[in-house]
Amino acid sequence: MNYRNLSITELHNLLLEDKVTPLELVKEAIKLAKEDDNNAFEYICDEEALKKVESLDSSKKNNLFYGIPVVVKDNFSTKDIPTTASSNILNGYVPIFSAEVVERLEAQGAIVIAKSTLDELAMGGTGTSGHKGTTFNPWDKSKTRLVGGSSCGSAASVAKGIVPFALGSDTGDSVRKPASYAGLVGFKPTWGRISRYGLFPFATSLDHVAYFTRNVSDAAISLNVLAGHDDKDFSSSFKEVPDYSKHLTDSIKGKKIGIIKGVVNSMSDKDIIAVFNKTAEGLKEKGAIVEEVEIDEKLLKAIFPTYVIISCAESTSNNANLDGIKFGARVEGDSFEEVMTNTRTKGFSRLIKRRFVIGAYSLLRENADELFIRAQKCRRLIVDAFNKAFESYDALIAPAAPSVAPEFAHKSDALDNEYLIADNYMAYGNMGGYPSITLPIGFKDKLPFGINLTAKPFDEVNLLNIANAVESVTGLKDLVAEDR
Ligand code: GLN
Repeated sequence: MNYRNLSITELHNLLLEDKVTPLELVKEAIKLAKEDDNNAFEYICDEEALKKVESLDSSKKNNLFYGIPVVVKDNFSTKDIPTTASSNILNGYVPIFSAEVVERLEAQGAIVIAKSTLDELAMGGTGTSGHKGTTFNPWDKSKTRLVGGSSCGSAASVAKGIVPFALGSDTGDSVRKPASYAGLVGFKPTWGRISRYGLFPFATSLDHVAYFTRNVSDAAISLNVLAGHDDKDFSSSFKEVPDYSKHLTDSIKGKKIGIIKGVVNSMSDKDIIAVFNKTAEGLKEKGAIVEEVEIDEKLLKAIFPTYVIISCAESTSNNANLDGIKFGARVEGDSFEEVMTNTRTKGFSRLIKRRFVIGAYSLLRENADELFIRAQKCRRLIVDAFNKAFESYDALIAPAAPSVAPEFAHKSDALDNEYLIADNYMAYGNMGGYPSITLPIGFKDKLPFGINLTAKPFDEVNLLNIANAVESVTGLKDLVAEDR
């Protein structure tokens, strides 16, 4: 049987009816992972996964994740399983503990079948900068298009139908943008909603645990498992966790939805805009009030540079622990300083060093007022503007990307409005810690593209309902790359 486009619930039902066993599902997923030709994996947990299936406690088989194969981005610690964040500096590193989210999934009976590739240390948006090279978009057979990053391998493995769920991380848009390029649901709940214990920090004030599924209902189910306080993460919220899947409906009568006009205006692809507008019309027909919202264009344009300064500064500081002394790869030298210098020189790629230079430069005493502090002030203005919009709207929407997945060769250095706004605006969701979700709305040249919806902090129930309404308007769900 082909399990590739089945949802978590559908697989769960097959398992309950004994139509398939966890062992069969996991073996099939491992087989598909081994056949993968998109460079989606850092490590396939062949033996580890089979052992875990053997030790599954069948009294837990009513859990939705029981026996479900999942993939984990390689910047989450996994006990006894190599974890490199796709960086040479972590070659050979085997964590002695698992990230809280991995523990929660495994406690439900989920089986981690592989660790997925990413842009090195999650810094990037193309899926081309990891130490294993480029990850390809499964929708493009000619292998000339990116799947997006930084969570490239997780996106590719769900889009290809290898697993129904994959963990990613989202600091600027690293799950929500690839979701658009890969025809998936990519969901980043509120900052603090899901524990980040064991996720390698990139930019702590912006980092979120996020994940890919192939439909909204699976996104809701997954949040039930992942959300909730964790004593090991000081930034984790104590807020009560509602039952997201129980509350899921597509009735959005009277909901107020705002189209971020400046994002659409900065875009040049008329076809994507037309499908986006049609989707918005569909929401109106379902009883929502849909209007255009004006966010000051200066602020929309400031999102990207503000993100660059803050994320590079935080990343420079967070990654100072990668020094070749405590763990990971080491390049020897005659002194402590020399070991550090040699290790970091060899261990990081040019792109990462470039970001550390930007970060260190922005934090330097004589530059901080002009760069880091100014970026923080700007972040405040951006978040204030969106908070104000959320006083009137249940969700803000816009296309998740201005195009379908670009070709690798396509390089845009131009800081035009489309790049500054439509290509990079989703980082506002990280700056405000807002829950934010991308899902497919259409195809162009047989390649998918998506919409992004964002809501106020901890308003996941509302956001998932509106996303569910989008899904019923478009009818696009459970997409798997080879089906078309
Ligand atoms: N593309 C953004 C960057 O380059 C986002 C990365 C992320 O969300 N991890 O930093």
